[in-house]
Amino acid sequence: MKKEYQKMIVITAPSGAGKTSITRHLMKVFPQLAFSISAATREPRSNEKNGTDYYFISVEEFQKKILNEEFVEWEMVYEGKYYGTLKSELKRMWKQELIPVLDIDVQGTIHVQKEYPVNSLFIFIKPPSIEELQRRLESRGSENKESLHARISKAAYELSFVNQFRHVIENKDFETACHEAERIVKDFINN
Ligand code: 5GP
Repeated sequence: MKKEYQKMIVITAPSGAGKTSITRHLMKVFPQLAFSISAATREPRSNEKNGTDYYFISVEEFQKKILNEEFVEWEMVYEGKYYGTLKSELKRMWKQELIPVLDIDVQGTIHVQKEYPVNSLFIFIKPPSIEELQRRLESRGSENKESLHARISKAAYELSFVNQFRHVIENKDFETACHEAERIVKDFINN
């Protein structure tokens, strides 16, 4: 896979910083991009569909795929919950001459940065502050108290990696952040 790899875009941020919304926006603007659907072992949320948001699989299936080296990267993002980018997913997109967009956590991104340093664009979306992040996660209403706490403490840790990124966008105002992301992606696509 290494030798044959083509362009990819990785968008990362602490959970709740708005990376999924910015990613969705980019997909609408650039038809040559395709959302890379990850495999995950958490339960689907009520609005999520298998094969659209994630490939929801069991822990056993996930571990089997790790052993078979089917992942570009994988992480246990939260206690007991695995998430990973499948090589088959990226290959499927490259075959269609599309550029995969990975919406993954910071650790996973650092891993991809090391393994696939050229031909890849890495963007870090930064929340204005941890307090604002907490407020956004609470208003999203998708987390219980425990998972909210886990996400906030992980976010503080993830923010410490911001210096390892050349492209950092502060998501204070959604529209401004989208425009900035568009500019960076346009540059990458055209070069
Ligand atoms: P959520 O449970 O909110 O959908 O996602 C939790 C976190 O896992 C988010 O930061 C999301 O971007 C990240 N994530 C989703 N897919 C992957 C993946 O394939 N690999 C890694 N490392 N993180 C992922």
